[in-house]
Amino acid sequence: MSEISVLLPDGSSRALPAGSSIADLAASIGSRLAKAAIAGTVDGAEVDLSVPLHDGASVSIITADSDAGRHVLRHSTAHVLAQAVVQLFEGAHFTIGPAIEDGFYYDFALPDNKTFSDDDLASIEKRMREIMKSNQPFTRSEVSVKEALAVFATQPYKCEIIERVTSGAADGSDVAEVGSSDSVSLYRNSDSFVDLCRGPHVPSTSRLGHFSLMKVAGAYWRGNEKGPMLQRIYGTAWESDTALKEHLHRLEEATKRDHRRLANELDLLSFPTELGGGLAVWHPKGAIVRKLMEDYSRQRHQDGDYQFVYTPHLANANLFAKSGHLDFYADGMYPPMEMDNGTYYMKPMNCPMHCLIFDSRQRSYRELPLRLFELGNVYRYERAGTLHGLLRIRGFTQDDSHIYCTEEQMADEISSLLDFIMSVLRRFGFNDFEFNLSTRDPEKSVGSDEIWGKATEALREALDRHGVEYKIKEGDAAFYGPKIDIDVRDAIGRKWQLSTIQCDFNLPERFELEYVGSDGARHRPIMLHRALFGSIERFFGVLIEHYAGAFPSWLSPEQVRVLPVALAHDEYATSVVAQLKKAGFRVDIDHADEQLGKRIRNAKTSKVPYVLVVGDDDVSHQSVGVNPRGGEVERDVSVTDFIARLTAEVAEGQLGDIDVS
Ligand SMILES: [Zn+2]
Ligand SMILES: [Zn+2]
Repeated sequence: MSEISVLLPDGSSRALPAGSSIADLAASIGSRLAKAAIAGTVDGAEVDLSVPLHDGASVSIITADSDAGRHVLRHSTAHVLAQAVVQLFEGAHFTIGPAIEDGFYYDFALPDNKTFSDDDLASIEKRMREIMKSNQPFTRSEVSVKEALAVFATQPYKCEIIERVTSGAADGSDVAEVGSSDSVSLYRNSDSFVDLCRGPHVPSTSRLGHFSLMKVAGAYWRGNEKGPMLQRIYGTAWESDTALKEHLHRLEEATKRDHRRLANELDLLSFPTELGGGLAVWHPKGAIVRKLMEDYSRQRHQDGDYQFVYTPHLANANLFAKSGHLDFYADGMYPPMEMDNGTYYMKPMNCPMHCLIFDSRQRSYRELPLRLFELGNVYRYERAGTLHGLLRIRGFTQDDSHIYCTEEQMADEISSLLDFIMSVLRRFGFNDFEFNLSTRDPEKSVGSDEIWGKATEALREALDRHGVEYKIKEGDAAFYGPKIDIDVRDAIGRKWQLSTIQCDFNLPERFELEYVGSDGARHRPIMLHRALFGSIERFFGVLIEHYAGAFPSWLSPEQVRVLPVALAHDEYATSVVAQLKKAGFRVDIDHADEQLGKRIRNAKTSKVPYVLVVGDDDVSHQSVGVNPRGGEVERDVSVTDFIARLTAEVAEGQLGDIDVS
């Protein structure tokens, strides 16, 4: 055959000379695409650009500025990192080097347990740039296991990976390195450097270069704390210098916004070492914001026909045996307490207790959907090394709801939950949502095909009704039911997973929950778990970073600070404070003990939304000078006017345009 025909993603087909590669296909479409292409897919599998195409193949071209393209760039850059390290550090062993979000890493073992210094990173980066400049092709080959073991004779970690894969003991990370079990694929990018890999890669090292090495950290081989400690070098890589610079700028912004630093500077909360890891105490200013968040949440739940409940922090082991937590969630639970001839646990979740409330008396279909809501404190074990400020913490408060409904009510209920969640999140300044639908893993799940089908369909229907785009995560659901996760993007474009709606067919079964239907017969309800903020603590951490500590006026712990210009204006300033307090605002005065300029700067550092300066004219006019955070100074505003304006602003912040479309 002198010509083949391939199928493109838009459904069209294209004729090419036999033996053409994906690179040839890209060139036949256009020179811009040929330049942007770095890999491709053939019949769904990612492959190198140089792979020859077969007749009838479904082909797509991967460009550097796509998610898949960046993944290839990052992984290829990791190879070059390993190449540079092996060349510069005699006796270095290299292990694995995957692409990760925004970048890549590679793990190394240096002789005599040596570690990399910051200077080392600079020289490694320099060598990497030389390798990239020298335009070395990534050449793939397939060899037998025996040959591969010979190639890596001086690299014990590579040999271990090869042996694990070929003996069938491999996990996902090994398979990514090697691919299959009968032969081993290698990528060589110079005579001196070859790595184990399934690929694909960029065609040549010259396609790389918009990267930066970030840091070095210790990492256990295979994450095993008893295994050897390796040196992990992290880097970031992008399709262009602009994209790289934007990313580095985002990181800088993220450091400035670090909630642990801001919580300390703004006196919101702290993590005293005496208290123990992963536990916070809330200071008065942080507690004000928390109370406002909770009040708002309670109000919205009350308006949404939720019924409030309270449950204890401890429970008898029997409860967690019944719920299955002792079987499936033991790692996340704290050690048991023995007392009164019984065993007790801190609760990791509120769900079992809410089931007890449902089951406390006979339920009728007329009561459904029954929506129970609790700001419930739970305690979950997190390893010390993974704790991170408010984002990963050992005790926290969920805005937790369990909704019991009939199968028929499921779709409407989920649909209105989506509205509810988005409208509450918008109030906190989040407008950019991403939805993920996780479906069944048939290997690990309880419940019939029929019920999984119905629930997944209900979740899908709710998303479709909202006309939102969503990703499907095949097999990613919990064993007890499918779910929707909602991610938001913050002010600097970072993604946070906040809310979740989960169907559960397991707990109603284990607790033998029933309601009496309109037919007089007993039926099992569906249970939905729903957390909106996720946890108050984590959500507060995200909010601090999202707003960079500059909370909108309705949430701000101190809404107004009044500054008398001189001692003579103190009395008038105090009367302004009294008027504002009477109007319900959180207001402070900073007396004229220091220079005005210094006091204004202090107020800005504290991120107070409004600074009011009062001097001679203000005393005679009953006015104030309004100095808004990030805005223009306005003089001679009457106190009544200012109160009216702030009242409107705060009211809008709290109630505002609740858009539930
Ligand atoms: Zn590779
Ligand atoms: Zn739950």
